[in-house]
This record gives sequence, C-alpha cells and structure tokens, in this order.
Amino acid sequence: MIPRRLYAPFLALALLGPAPAPADAPAPTRLSEAALWLQQYLRIDTTNPPGREQRAAAFLAGILHREGINTRTLVSPQGRTSLWARLAAPGSNGRAILLLHHTDVVPAGPGWTVPPFAGLVRDGRLWGRGAVDDKSLGIAQLAAFVSLKRRKVPLARDVIYLAVADEENGGGQGVGWLMQQHPNLFKGVEGVVGEGGRAQVSGDGRILWWGIEVAQKRPLWLRVTTFGRGGHGSGLNPESANHQLVTGLARLLAKPVRWRVTPPARDYLHAIAPLHTDPLRKTLSRIDQVITPTGPKEFLLPGMANLFVNSVQVTVLDGGEKINVIPDRAQALLDVRLLPDTDSTIFLAEIRKALGDACQVEVLVTSPPAAPSPAAGPVWDALSRALATSAPVVPTFVPGFTDSRYFRERRIAAYGITPFALAGEDLRGIHGPDERIPLAELDRGVERVRQVVELYAGRKAGTAVR
Ligand SMILES: [Zn+2]
Repeated sequence: MIPRRLYAPFLALALLGPAPAPADAPAPTRLSEAALWLQQYLRIDTTNPPGREQRAAAFLAGILHREGINTRTLVSPQGRTSLWARLAAPGSNGRAILLLHHTDVVPAGPGWTVPPFAGLVRDGRLWGRGAVDDKSLGIAQLAAFVSLKRRKVPLARDVIYLAVADEENGGGQGVGWLMQQHPNLFKGVEGVVGEGGRAQVSGDGRILWWGIEVAQKRPLWLRVTTFGRGGHGSGLNPESANHQLVTGLARLLAKPVRWRVTPPARDYLHAIAPLHTDPLRKTLSRIDQVITPTGPKEFLLPGMANLFVNSVQVTVLDGGEKINVIPDRAQALLDVRLLPDTDSTIFLAEIRKALGDACQVEVLVTSPPAAPSPAAGPVWDALSRALATSAPVVPTFVPGFTDSRYFRERRIAAYGITPFALAGEDLRGIHGPDERIPLAELDRGVERVRQVVELYAGRKAGTAVR
C-alpha cells in the first residue's frame, strides 16, 4: 500500500537534483535468479479486487517445494489464499523473524506505456504492476529464505515466510483473517519485516538515509447515507437525500483542522533533521515551534501536512442518475486517517455531530490506537546493522497504512522497510502507471534482505553488504 503521493515530503527533495543514480547504474546483462522469479510473478495478475491470489501462492509454493521446503496454504472463507513456510532452528524456542509481503496488487489503471502484466525488461528495468509494491520485496525475502536452506546456514532462530492476500483492500481476508483464525502462526514472532519503509536518495544518487517505518496513521473508513422523498426535479425539495448529504458534508468540511506534533512524528523528523541541509534541517529540528494548532508557521514540503492532522477526505459521491429526477437515497465514502494516538470514538462522535442526524454513518474499516514498534530489539538490530553499512538508519512515521497495523495492535513489533534505493521516476509507478524496478537495484535489495535475515537468525552473523 502506501501510494507514492504519501512519499511526497521527501520525494520532492529527491527531485530537486538530476536523474537518480543508483537506479541508473549499469544493468546486469542477464537476469539473476531473483529477477527471473520476479518476472514470472509479475505475469500473474493479482489485481484486487478480486485478488485471485491462489495462483501467486501456488507459484511461490512451487519454488519452495523445489528447494525441499514445506508450505501451508491458508484459504479464507471468501477463497482468498495466503502462503506460509517456516525454517525452524534447533533450540530457538520458536523465536522467529516473520518475512511478510502481500501478493495482491492495485488495478493497473490507465497511462501505461507497456503491458502491465507482461514482466517486460526495458532500460535495465523490470516493468509491471507490483514491481515495487509489493512483489519485489516478496521475491527478495524468498531469495533470502531459500538461500538459508541451500547453503545450510546454521540457524539460531526461526525464519517464517508469509505471503498474504488482500492487503490492498485493508487486509481483512489476509493478515486480519489469519490473526483471528490462525493465531498460532504468529507465536514466538519477535518482529515482522514488511513493506512501508523507504530510502532517501539525493539528487546525485547517494543514499542519504534508510527509513524503517515504526508507526503509521490509522484508517477510519466511513459510509455516509441519507434518505429523502424522491420525485420530479422541477419540485422544491430541500429535504432531498442529495441536499441533506451535501449540507451535512459541507458542515463537516468547514470544521477547522487541528494540527499537532505526535511523538512518532517528532522522533522521525528529529532523526532525519541532521541528515539534511538548511533550510529543511532547521524546520525539521524545530518542528514543535513550526506546527501550531491552526497550522504551520513555515513552508512545509508537499505532503508533510499529513503527519500532523487527522484528515477527512470525501472520496466517493453517489446520488441520482438523471438531471430531472430527485433520488431518494444518496451516499458518500469518507477516507479518514487518524494520528496514531487519536481517540477514534471521540473523533467519530465529532464527525456524526457535524454531519447531523439526517446522515447515517457506517464504519467500514477502523483500527485501534497502537504504540510504535521499538527502535530496538533483535529484529530492529538486524535491520539497522544490515542497512547502516550504506547509510544512516532512522525510524519513520508514515501517513499511509499497511498490514503492520495488525501486528502492532497485538504488541508484535512490525517494521516497514524497502531494501531498494529507488528515486525519481522509479518511485512514481507505485499505485500509478509504468511501475518498474531497476534490475541492478533489485539484486542489491535481495542481498540486503539476505543480510538482515542472516544477522537475525544465523548462528554466525555475516557481514552486511554495501
Ligand atoms: Zn503494498
């Protein structure tokens, strides 16, 4: 998840300079094993809805079975398939790292210059929906997992590989369902490594920092419905469903937005401040003075506002079909995103009050407050040691949401990462057209994930890669 616009605060920075360099490094002449796997994976259309993740699960299971690794296929009542495998270490007492990715993708949408499910190689890049979000991470994790088995790496702790369905639609049929129905799968997990982090790349292609996501905003998705007398459009009908909906929404949107700096936002911005230059460095290090309840006192980069507000966005409006017919029912969908510690009961009550009694409000998705995952502990240590060889590592807070929320709600540490240093145009394909990943960076990312896993689970920790 986490569409590219939510990367905007620092993406803008990356765009100030010339074209990104890590991505433009010479591409390998022939595809690595991981690239070949990813190419096949991208050819499996797992657009959600409907998902149809069973083919993806079968593809990944096939690779694992060829390596002699057993898998478990888990199918939700709605037929949504996830895949689970575990490499157990003697004497681990079940302590494990969980490598998580989602097999579904968002619809391709318009604007592609290549077929989105062909796994095409062009300009040293592999193109296709899911190339960044999230199939490349799944393949890097798979390669690391398989490598442990092939090389008979002596393990001190377990490694779990989990490929889940339905993340792009909230995860209710994926991680959400697994947590409810198969809690034993997560016993002993010391940390989850999934999507959601980022690499900040400078204009001249250097990696400035790696962001490991430890906290995120929470979704509160609402459906608002109004009813009224239908009839001919020529009649005066101020109580119509559409008018009640529009006036209710207008009251809600007129409410002033309250800005505040939450602890995860403060920790994140203070951590990255010294890694940037003025004037951004100054703004970030004085963020408590910059943000006031009514808004920022200084210029913020595009997208940064999302870190400080509970946002209410009307994303879908539905009412009526013909210009001279008054419908008897109207509906709006609201994408509300809450700061990590906002009380959703109070916030929802305020929304209902502003909308008024004529508006029926139904909660579609909600997520309780959850503490950030600690920037400490065995999984954090492995991640930060592996990545710190190429750039400083900072804990980040993101405005989007991922399946990590399900783990944090249950006090299981979850870390959002990307092992790929992408920049500029290569980031714009996330949830947009022409999604692609540079082959050279894919291979570097595979190696980084392998290092993370071995640092965590290996008896003899290896040396991290650059
Ligand atoms: Zn994703």
